[in-house]
Amino acid sequence: MPYPLICLGFQSYGAKMGIDLSGKVVIVTGGAKGIGEGCVQKFFDSNATVISFDLDSSSLANQNSKYADFESRFSSQVVDVSNEAQVEDAVTKVLAAHGRIDGLINCAGIQTYGSVTDTTEEVWDRTFNVNAKSMFLTAKYVAPAMITQKAGSIVNISSVQSLMSQKTVVAYAASKGAINALTRASAIDLAISGVRVNAILPGSVDTPMLRTSAEMHRGEKSIEEVLADWGAGHPLGRIAKSSEIGDLAVFLVSNESAFITGQSIVIDGGLSIQVPVILPGK
Ligand code: NAD
Repeated sequence: MPYPLICLGFQSYGAKMGIDLSGKVVIVTGGAKGIGEGCVQKFFDSNATVISFDLDSSSLANQNSKYADFESRFSSQVVDVSNEAQVEDAVTKVLAAHGRIDGLINCAGIQTYGSVTDTTEEVWDRTFNVNAKSMFLTAKYVAPAMITQKAGSIVNISSVQSLMSQKTVVAYAASKGAINALTRASAIDLAISGVRVNAILPGSVDTPMLRTSAEMHRGEKSIEEVLADWGAGHPLGRIAKSSEIGDLAVFLVSNESAFITGQSIVIDGGLSIQVPVILPGK
C-alpha cells in the first residue's frame, strides 16, 4: 500500500515549506507601494511583526486600513529615509515599541533619468541620497540593536542596473552600484556579530515606479503593451510581481539563509544572462 505513505510524505514536506517568522520584528522602508508593499505583505504572511516606513502618508494611511485588524503585528511611520534625524527617531520608536529588530528591508528608492552630460548635480545628489545614503542611515541606526541581539538580517534592494546598463540612467545605475558595495562592506563589518547583509538585484518588477517609466517612454503604445514588451526581454517572458521579491526577502531574513551574507542576489527572469544578439531565425 505505498500510495497513502507517499501522500503523508508530501503533506509533511508541504508543512515545512512555509517560512514562519513568528516573534520577528521587521522594518520595510518604502513599504507603502511597489516592492516594499510586496515585502510588507510577505513578511506579514510569514507571521512577522512588520513596520512600514514611507514618505507617502496617504498610501501609508491606506495600508493602515488594510491591516487595521492586526495592530499588534502591523504599524507604519511617515519617514524620509534620506534624513538622518528622521531615521534615528523612527528606529528609536520601533525599539521602544517592540524591543528588538530582526529584519531591515531597504526598498525605498527613486528612478531618475539623465545621461552623463545632462544629469544635474541636484538629480545626482537626490538619487544618491534616497537610493544609497538612506540604506547606510537605516543600517547605522538598526544594526546596534542587531549586534546586541547577536542576530539580524539586512536586505538592500539594488537592481540589475548595478551590473548592466542602458542609456540615460547614470545617477540611478551608479547609486545601485553603491548599494552593492555598501552591502559587501557592511556585511564584513557585521558578520562577527551574527548580523547578515545581502542585496537583491531585481529585473523589471510591476510597481508604480515601473509604470511611471512605461508612461514616460510609451510613445503610441499603452502601458500594458510596454510592460509586455519589457517582459518579453526577460527570458522567462514576463516582468516580476513584487510578491516574488518579497518571497526572496523573507528567505534572506529566515534561518534558511543563515550562511548567506554579503551577496548580490539577482532575481530577473534571466534578463542578465542573455546575450542580446539573437541568432537569425531563432
Ligand atoms: P515605487 O516607486 O513603486 O515604490 C517606492 C516606495 O518608496 C514608494 O512608496 C515611495 O513613497 C517610497 N519612497 C521614496 N522615497 C522615499 C524616501 N525618501 N523615504 C521613504 N520612502 C520613500 O518603487 P519600486 O519599483 O517598488 O522600487 C523599490 C526599490 O526597488 C527601489 O529601490 C528601486 O530602485 C528598486 N528596483 C525596482 C525595480 C522595478 O522594476 N520596479 C527594478 C529593480 C530595482
